[in-house]
Amino acid sequence: MAMSPHAPAENPSTPSGYGFELVVQHTLERVRGDTSGELAGYIPELARVDPERFGISVVSVEGEVVSAGDAEVPFTIQSISKAFAFCLALEIAGRDKVLSRVGVEPSGDAFNAIVFDPHTNRPFNPMVNAGAITVSGLIAEELGADAFPMVLDRFSAAAGRSLSVDEAVYSSEAATGHRNRGIAHLLTSAGALVADVDATLDLYFRQCSILVTASDLARMGATLANIGENPLTGSAAFSVEAVRATLAVMFTCGMYNFAGNWAFDVGVPAKSGVGGGILGVVNRQLGIATYSPRLDAKGNSVRGIAAFRELAEELGLHLFDPTNRGSAMLTAFGR
Ligand code: GLU
Repeated sequence: MAMSPHAPAENPSTPSGYGFELVVQHTLERVRGDTSGELAGYIPELARVDPERFGISVVSVEGEVVSAGDAEVPFTIQSISKAFAFCLALEIAGRDKVLSRVGVEPSGDAFNAIVFDPHTNRPFNPMVNAGAITVSGLIAEELGADAFPMVLDRFSAAAGRSLSVDEAVYSSEAATGHRNRGIAHLLTSAGALVADVDATLDLYFRQCSILVTASDLARMGATLANIGENPLTGSAAFSVEAVRATLAVMFTCGMYNFAGNWAFDVGVPAKSGVGGGILGVVNRQLGIATYSPRLDAKGNSVRGIAAFRELAEELGLHLFDPTNRGSAMLTAFGR
């Protein structure tokens, strides 16, 4: 029989016996020893971060917060911004216009692949760079000079505090992002990008350079889990329809060319970034974020993946797991 979510386990020698806070703490400790992987070196400034940093944060839709390790260390959001930008674009430009420019099919290709869907001549999905640059272009097309202030405003509403840009990372990527520049020009020739290439890339590089902590990201995830409303501040950041569409694309495409394995093992909508963050959303329950900057060959945080695997197993978080007790356990322990 599944353990009751409303009482601690009988056996206090297991993490479950100690409650939610120790599940998170033990996960951090079990995974911390894995120092495999490399820092993202292709954006020079990202290679300067402290590789040892490791933090986990979990926020429930009831507003409970549990964190462990370096959950307050800032890092750049990078590709995790793609999920929130897509959410915003759906609201601003409308679903039909967005879907006329970018698909919602997993590509199985690397995040920076220069590949479009051969049937539509559009990027496969908004979670790979080509699709994300298309989405930034749509926001720039709709809002002009107001585009970045709007992005920062909505991301901040989701995090529940005013976020800012890491100017050094922004400049570093703007100076070296030749591949993304190439992708943007190809998108223009394919008709997927209508806005000016420079304005689009400026928005894209800036949104990727927004500084967050694991606890910010967990609150942003809890905002998605709470159908667009920040559970701690009560402010509405995103529309309900856009959140549903965003979670669906995160589930199928959010982990680069590891998305299928992730859906199989962890089973929650998620998005990773080359800054070392991973955000997972347990719908109507939890935002979960990890930060550890060493990446595997696919660009996903090594310790982040391991931590999510442990938490999903321990708390039964998988979308199709009948024993899911994530937020119920958090509530039961009065956090
Ligand atoms: N700014 C990064 C790029 O476009 C984001 C990539 C990522 O996080 O996957 O290369």
